[in-house]
Amino acid sequence: MLLPHRTVETPVFMPVGTLGTVKAVPQDVLETLGAEIILGNTYHLYLRPGHEAIRRMGGLHRFISWPRAMLTDSGGFQVFSLSQLRKVTDEGVSFRSHLDGSSHFFTAEHSIDVQIALGADICMAFDECTEYPADRKRAEESLRLTMAWAERSLAHFKAHCSEVPWFSESGIGEFGGRRQSLFGIVQGGMYRDLRRESAERLVEMEFDGYAIGGLSVGEPRELRMEMIAEVLPLLPADKPRYVMGVGYPDEIEQYARMGVDMMDCVLPTRAARHGLLFTSEGRLNIKGKKYAEDQGPPDPACHCMVCRRYSRAYLRHLMHSGEALAGTLNSIHNLAYYLGIMERVRAELASY
Ligand SMILES: [Zn+2]
Repeated sequence: MLLPHRTVETPVFMPVGTLGTVKAVPQDVLETLGAEIILGNTYHLYLRPGHEAIRRMGGLHRFISWPRAMLTDSGGFQVFSLSQLRKVTDEGVSFRSHLDGSSHFFTAEHSIDVQIALGADICMAFDECTEYPADRKRAEESLRLTMAWAERSLAHFKAHCSEVPWFSESGIGEFGGRRQSLFGIVQGGMYRDLRRESAERLVEMEFDGYAIGGLSVGEPRELRMEMIAEVLPLLPADKPRYVMGVGYPDEIEQYARMGVDMMDCVLPTRAARHGLLFTSEGRLNIKGKKYAEDQGPPDPACHCMVCRRYSRAYLRHLMHSGEALAGTLNSIHNLAYYLGIMERVRAELASY
């Protein structure tokens, strides 16, 4: 996948950098771990420090000192999950900030403007993440909104994508004149025909890539799998196919083998901060008493910088002492584990 800041090998796992930071992990460590592309959250960065401030500082890459690829979400998911007093109309969503209660209004056009100012390599169309469970009527109405917003996102993106902070019109600039990409998002709740309709209409609109959204919202895993299997063959194989917000290690491996190119999830870092490690031997709660004097590495099969250097006993001690380093070391290992899965799948797929 050829992006302005990086050629990214797929399938790829993208660590989530909500507020311009993959929590507790410095950027140079992410590079060492082999992270090729990370996420930024539009809603959060729009509220603080503000997209115009980031534009003035040259864009998100420069602001956070991340030279590789980035993707920003549309802000839709957080507007619907975090903000208060939101009101949705065909025009857009009005809401109050979860930080200070201030009033804001987000439209498809505004989401795109914010994402262009942030300047990630990949932007996402503004969508409504349909909740679970949702009855048929509700899912249809939500999909109608998402499809209308997808068209408006695309039109606005085409008219304004040259306003990105780092864009070179001449084609001979720093990024060879390459522009940002815009992905459409398939919704439709847990209704196979709505998912199909959503995918087909987005493909007609010709986005640069396609995401399957509205998953990992509380539905059983079999249902999630069913939706992905339904939609994936309808999306062009020559463009990136992205499943948003998944999942457990065995899940991301399964989807990668099915042909999903991109996935992101807060799980490896969020679980890490709670002391949950993903290892080749299964899940390990490092707070457990049995690790109090365990001098073995967190995961004997892992070669990450944490497993090479520190013991389970030490990681357990850091967790119990409430030390900030606990979150950092646990997160580094979990990210290494997730990135390692993708590396293995890539190698296997390449050998066919
Ligand atoms: Zn490790």
